[in-house]
Amino acid sequence: MTKKPFVTKQKLEEIRETIPTPFHLYDEKGIRENAQALREAFAWNKGYREYFAVKACPNPFLIDILREYGCGCDCSSMTELMLSDALGCSGDDIMFSSNATPASEYQYAEKVNAIINLDDITHIEFLEKAIGYIPKKISCRYNPGGLFKISNDIMDNPGDAKYGMTTDQLFEAFKILKEKGAEEFGIHAFLASNTVTNEYYPMLAKVLFEVAVRLKEETGADIRFVNLSGGIGIPYRPDQEPNDIRVIGEGVRKVYEEILVPAGMGDVALYTELGRFMTGPYGCLVTEAIHEKHTHKEYIGCDACAVNLMRPAMYGAYHHITVMGKEDAPCDHMYDVTGSLCENNDKFAVDRMLPKIDIGDLLVIHDTGAHGFAMGYNYNGKLKSAEVLLKEDGSFEMIRRAETPKDYFATFDCFPIYKKILKES
Ligand SMILES: *Cc1c(COP(=O)(O)O)cnc(C)c1O
Repeated sequence: MTKKPFVTKQKLEEIRETIPTPFHLYDEKGIRENAQALREAFAWNKGYREYFAVKACPNPFLIDILREYGCGCDCSSMTELMLSDALGCSGDDIMFSSNATPASEYQYAEKVNAIINLDDITHIEFLEKAIGYIPKKISCRYNPGGLFKISNDIMDNPGDAKYGMTTDQLFEAFKILKEKGAEEFGIHAFLASNTVTNEYYPMLAKVLFEVAVRLKEETGADIRFVNLSGGIGIPYRPDQEPNDIRVIGEGVRKVYEEILVPAGMGDVALYTELGRFMTGPYGCLVTEAIHEKHTHKEYIGCDACAVNLMRPAMYGAYHHITVMGKEDAPCDHMYDVTGSLCENNDKFAVDRMLPKIDIGDLLVIHDTGAHGFAMGYNYNGKLKSAEVLLKEDGSFEMIRRAETPKDYFATFDCFPIYKKILKES
């Protein structure tokens, strides 16, 4: 089994004439179709809204596309709030789902009227101190602890996650918030990441809906929304079956009708904060093979490195690789595909069977549209790449320029050395 790039070799050759490799390329058509499918899958819920997890792909041009499909922004830092604010989001357009939050960020969130999702019971007092009051609309993040299992498969380990409040704390938090003047409540949980199964959301919904009913009964809180957060995954490996968002939407509807409707809560809005699912498959990292090395293993050295895509180095994550123009050639060579960092984990693939790669070949590294560029860093003084949008009509547009040394040294611009480095007078 294999994966097919959303772009042709010819188009990449054309882009490369004006935008040097490496660069991240995004597929407008794919992003739009997927956003539309998500919207349709949850259209049965009147208040449904996706808050795109900005951290997954913080590019204003891409977020603008998602905004056309009704998406808001899910933020967890000052700069993510600033970006969302600049895109014209305000009030209910922004969900602020942060943790270990600095006071200044709560203050900024309040300034742009974001919905604040509290990560901990102690944040009630912290928020009140930071902004002077408790907002009328407020959300709490829940962590039931234990292991999150589907059948006998362990999906993730919420008991070991730093996020959210325990069950007791959640009930206590609702009572306190109510006393302090909150009137409209939401609950949120993120219990498993990158799930490639249609059952995760329905199971999570069951947990949250049951707790929502109890919260309403025991605290009298007016629960306006349940936020299923992120966690819907994508098939990074070619043999994985992708999620079917329609099946997921129907699965959640069934649980909603079983639990919320009979409890008189058939008006509760559902929110999601998907990141990976929204843009992951619709981005790729394009890099050129610039070296081959035959030592104890066979290596291909690329002009991209872990700075451009950290997931393989950080998690040992699999990202499929297509050697452009050799799609039908036999995968009869075993390579480590590496970047140039002075770090031995700077490898996009280890012991990967690929067609014979020649210097100058273009490699497409798949599924980098979420948590790809965004996780980039500057180790070894390596610079972040450009981002390019492949539009629906087949044309392309640069939507972020590559970093230059000037960007890298910008934090020295208050010292004399800055001018020397850049040879500025
Ligand atoms: C990271 C994150 C998301 C998005 O997660 P994905 O796995 O990309 O869908 C959503 N909500 C919160 C609070 C997050 O931290």
